[in-house]
Amino acid sequence: SAVREVDFVKGAVSMATLPPPQHPEVAFAGRSNVGKSSLVNMLVGRRALAKISKTPGKTQQFNYFVANARDRHNAFYLVDLPGVGYARVSKQQRGEWERFFVDYVAQRQTLRLLFHLIDSRVGVLDEDRRLMHILAELFLSTNGRWNIAADADAASGPELQYVVVLTKADKTSGISPRVQESLEAALEESRLLQWRDVPIAITSATTKRGRDAMWRFMRRVNPH
Ligand code: GDP
Repeated sequence: SAVREVDFVKGAVSMATLPPPQHPEVAFAGRSNVGKSSLVNMLVGRRALAKISKTPGKTQQFNYFVANARDRHNAFYLVDLPGVGYARVSKQQRGEWERFFVDYVAQRQTLRLLFHLIDSRVGVLDEDRRLMHILAELFLSTNGRWNIAADADAASGPELQYVVVLTKADKTSGISPRVQESLEAALEESRLLQWRDVPIAITSATTKRGRDAMWRFMRRVNPH
């Protein structure tokens, strides 16, 4: 679990503009300011992500980074999904983004891991419920299979793992009962738990709490 280099690949705005599916990928979803750049930088020990993902215009696309590009056995994609919960877009834009997201989760065969970041001090917001709802709908429409394409062909590899990540856990003395309950209620309501266990990781970019736990999930994209 070492990352020697991370390079920006491209921003994708549709299924047709995704980079070729040549590496396994891990995607990070969560509203802006949730602590995504800090967490990813903590995980990979690089600062590249924050700059690009915050560039105006790049906040509406899936930002692709490749880790270990020069070592094809260790290479994987990090995908920043900054569109999630981006409140300042029109209804139409949100609809377009959601369609892209649904297609991406349902059809991207190389997607192995989806981290959904939630600020441990704020708890679950409407945008987070919306994301869980979208995933649950996908489950319902596919009888509890994540990735329609991958499951059609068992040889295409392991399916997607969805993990909720509570960020900035250094500020609170533990996760507050209010946040804990709102998260459990949201997962329950979404009916996601009907299909899968949802692991919850507790992290802090400041103290590096949760780093090992995150890397255990990351073995899905970087087994070496
Ligand atoms: P992003 O917009 O989701 O990429 O969020 P950032 O990583 O830029 O973080 C947003 C703000 O939260 C910044 O002021 C960070 O310093 C702060 N922050 C991020 N992670 C942590 C953390 O683990 N602990 C604390 N205390 N603050 C954090």
